[in-house]
Amino acid sequence: MKKYVLVMVGLAALALMPATVRTQEAGYPIEVIPPGKGPFTFPSGYQTPWEKIQIMVTSKMSPNLFVLHGSEGLDPAHPDASGGRAMALFGPDGVLMVDTENRQVADKTLAAIRSFTTAPIRILVNTHVHSDHTGANAFFAKQGALIYSQENLRNEMLRVPARGNGQQPPAPDMAGIPVATYNYNPATSGQPAVTFNMNGETVDFIPMMPSHTAGDTIVRFRKANVIYIEDFYRNFGYPFADQSNGGSIKGMLDAVDLIQKLADAKTTLIPGHGTLVKKQDLLPYRAMLVEVMAKVKTMRDQGKSLKDVLAANLTAPYDKTTLGDTQQSKDRFITEVYDEVKDFPPVVDGKRTMPVHQ
Ligand SMILES: [Zn+2]
Repeated sequence: MKKYVLVMVGLAALALMPATVRTQEAGYPIEVIPPGKGPFTFPSGYQTPWEKIQIMVTSKMSPNLFVLHGSEGLDPAHPDASGGRAMALFGPDGVLMVDTENRQVADKTLAAIRSFTTAPIRILVNTHVHSDHTGANAFFAKQGALIYSQENLRNEMLRVPARGNGQQPPAPDMAGIPVATYNYNPATSGQPAVTFNMNGETVDFIPMMPSHTAGDTIVRFRKANVIYIEDFYRNFGYPFADQSNGGSIKGMLDAVDLIQKLADAKTTLIPGHGTLVKKQDLLPYRAMLVEVMAKVKTMRDQGKSLKDVLAANLTAPYDKTTLGDTQQSKDRFITEVYDEVKDFPPVVDGKRTMPVHQ
């Protein structure tokens, strides 16, 4: 009876709120295992010991919407927690997954899902092409998943870059290539390309402008009031726009602005890495992008070389508040900005032909 009254109060309150504000299940989200903070160091020649990496339920967004992530301190690509977060919505209608973690831990990712549901794996959406998000695609397709993504992501996956030694790369495993595709359209920015009604939840696949890559999708769970915002925002290491795969720092600004419209103050935003955040947490990150872009543009307009700009240490004001602020992470970020503020190559089939720096 008490629960019924609460539900009625909730519905009455909902009627008074703007349409974008939604109720979350009481007591959620629950953080089970937060990511590590570091600092982390790895000896030279260190190889990721995949056999030691565990995939665990690290947070619960609702009784049937869980987040999976890997162990900390073992994977130099993502030392705070190995891999890119994956999500599973589960229930009588089957499992809908967001991303698949690395190929090397596919069986552990499945075992983690099997720890809370026996339902068949049915739907998979990829937020972007990187292997920590798509590595186990083929494995989960063989479990029964139909894979969705932007068409650009499919193109990026089909066109594996040639290796540095000039040898042909191995052909991609076609089982892992998305089959159901859609495009980003600036005229309908923020609107879902696909909506699933499953397991009492409504799930929107929202294609993004070229930002982290040219094939990004964010995934909104309306009832849980959660948006998986993938990697255009990060709070472990400096921003990464994968420009070769069509990404753009300016697009990452636009992505942050779109989230300000799509999320309300209570919406839990789930980045691919780092800690879970709310929309106001994205604003200092946005300000940093704007400031660094302006400073790099000024230097480049003055004819300064990339080496000069890197030496100016423009990230210094942010190092104290940026976890994982390694030299490699800083240099990558500043180089991206340098390449973008002048003569930025266009996206063609999900790729940009970026300059090569010595
Ligand atoms: Zn990632």
